[in-house]
Amino acid sequence: MKCVRCKGKGIIYLKRHNAAFCQDCFLYYYKNQVKKNIKRHKMFDKKDKILVVISGGKDSMALWHILASEGYNVTGMYINLGIGHYSDKSQQVVESFAQKNGLELIVKDIKKEYGLDIYKLSKLLKRSTCSICGSIKRYLFNKVAYDGGFSAVATGHNLDDEAATLLGNVLSWEEGYLARQSPVLESTHPKLVKKVKPLYTLTERENLFYVLINKIEFLHDECPHAIGARSILYKEVLNRLEEESPGTKQRFITSFLEKGRRHFQDVYEKVELKECISCGQVTTTEICSFCRFVQILKQDA
Ligand code: SF4
Ligand code: ZN
Repeated sequence: MKCVRCKGKGIIYLKRHNAAFCQDCFLYYYKNQVKKNIKRHKMFDKKDKILVVISGGKDSMALWHILASEGYNVTGMYINLGIGHYSDKSQQVVESFAQKNGLELIVKDIKKEYGLDIYKLSKLLKRSTCSICGSIKRYLFNKVAYDGGFSAVATGHNLDDEAATLLGNVLSWEEGYLARQSPVLESTHPKLVKKVKPLYTLTERENLFYVLINKIEFLHDECPHAIGARSILYKEVLNRLEEESPGTKQRFITSFLEKGRRHFQDVYEKVELKECISCGQVTTTEICSFCRFVQILKQDA
């Protein structure tokens, strides 16, 4: 197996590109992909302040590392969601990385700062912990980015995540979600900060390789609530397709972005946005779900 670029000894083979790379050329390929994605979708440039969402897993750690090493103005943001050992461990990993590399980090603790408990809320509202957790995360990322004057919120979503999400949305024709699935979600309200996914063409395996080569510490465990999630089943199905036909995931995403997504644009535009009467953040209801969560738990105390 020879490196496709320098003809040295290849150490990683990427089936969908029918190419092997040595360590240095893999890093060159990886960096190029990220730079191309940022440029192609006009995500941000070096003057912009970028808030990078960090969970402590390999994808977000890889994103934080590559953007910082490429000289982008990045600040990490970590949310402690009160998920026992998983949250404690991931916070430790993220804080130690920031400290060792002199990177700025904002930490939010939903229990300590807002009295929020995703388990209590899930019981009281009869909603899954993931749906509660997702609402809280989306709210806080946008609020912190807006209040801090950031130009964009960057997440570590990779090709496997994007393809699995797309498959799930297509299977139930979730038109609203399909309209919003994109590597760049432009702001549609002065208080909504643009969302970007610079790693959307790189796979989980490539991100893993990147963090291993760069000796970046990351949390190997998944959140315990991710076990049994539908998205994992979709990833397994897509992996099977990818094995038989390399490049399936990338084709699925790129052809959707080029040909499919535009058919859902009118659904996206129909959503009426308001400002929450309590906190002023953007919502579709009178009071946003975050403020509702805080109120519900206060009443229950
Ligand atoms: Fe939150 Fe669910 Fe993700 Fe865990 S798996 S971090 S509970 S959304
Ligand atoms: Zn609110």
